[in-house]
Amino acid sequence: MQRKDTREVVMGKLVIGGQNPVYVEGMGRQNPYQVELAIQEINRAQAAGCEIFRLSIPEKDALEGAKKIKEWTKIPLIADVHFDLDLATECVRLGFEAVRINPGTLGDRSRLEELFSVLQDHNTVLRVGANAGSLPTHLRSLPRVEALFESIAEMVDFAEKKGVRNLFLSAKSTEVEETVEINRRLSKAFPYPIHIGVTEAGEGLEGVVKSALGIGLVLFEGIGNSIRVSLTSRDPVLEVKVAWMILNFLGLRKRGGEIISCPTCARCRGDVVGAVERVKTFFEEQGIAPPFRIAIMGCEVNGPGEAREAEVGLAFSRSGAIIFSKGRVEKVVSDREVLEYFIAFLAEKIKSVEGKKGGSSFEDVSSVCPNFERNSSGS
Ligand code: SF4
Repeated sequence: MQRKDTREVVMGKLVIGGQNPVYVEGMGRQNPYQVELAIQEINRAQAAGCEIFRLSIPEKDALEGAKKIKEWTKIPLIADVHFDLDLATECVRLGFEAVRINPGTLGDRSRLEELFSVLQDHNTVLRVGANAGSLPTHLRSLPRVEALFESIAEMVDFAEKKGVRNLFLSAKSTEVEETVEINRRLSKAFPYPIHIGVTEAGEGLEGVVKSALGIGLVLFEGIGNSIRVSLTSRDPVLEVKVAWMILNFLGLRKRGGEIISCPTCARCRGDVVGAVERVKTFFEEQGIAPPFRIAIMGCEVNGPGEAREAEVGLAFSRSGAIIFSKGRVEKVVSDREVLEYFIAFLAEKIKSVEGKKGGSSFEDVSSVCPNFERNSSGS
């Protein structure tokens, strides 16, 4: 995938834009008043892979907490400010790596000059983040994509005239098609890095699918320098996990592994669903994500092929199941012992990957199970 080049901006240790990685952003639910809860939330998100964190600063009284949170947080923080530009200016002074202002909720525009001046003094990034739900009044009669684009263009023009070039753009819609269209336009019109997201994507599966489509389609065009998945949830961890899955499945970043499993059909020779559930429970209990690719397959059609491609594989067969390790047969096990053995084997393999233990035994599949033929038809 050819990624579009942009200018680079620096946020803490991260350089965003150019050909640098697409970073994962998370957003807090806690009010900065609740310093301890807010820091715990950031730490949880960071442990899940969050690389940039956006913190809402709803009012002046939140600044004291924001200051403490900034002191305790290692990843770059973006202060998210609406209606009161002086809050953004204060957050720049507190050392936030970026401030986000929304062209539709600026409040007293005369305060922009001071913000721009302080931004330049501190070399802080300005996220210009427009949202279809809070468009500037004078643009609301336009089609949404047009209004989003114009709201960003006006602010970029004003910032550039004042000498502000540390810009990071974002325009979000609730619709997949609009998300693709607005980001294409931003990418074509401006040299600045772009943050991608589908705003208010919803809850659960609906939000995950919508976000994956909107963000994924834009990234697939080579556009985007950071992403955030916006889900209705009490915690940002799920958003961060989904963001990483999007990046992993597009081949843009690599974090952890995945579980490949077949849907099962009339040919299925074992409890694939139960095996996948058991493996997922195992990782949940361990408090870790699968660190490598694991395949769990129902029969001899695609089973050995997929299992061979994975670090660890399980392919059910007529007489039980074959456990694979790095493409080679580790063991043939009976129905009754398959899950117990597979989980124990996974645990050992994780230790081995962590450098605590050596490899595993090897036999060629055909010598163990002559009925298995690789990839004879698709599922
Ligand atoms: S691998 Fe394919 S053919 Fe075999 S059980 Fe799974 S879905 Fe069916």
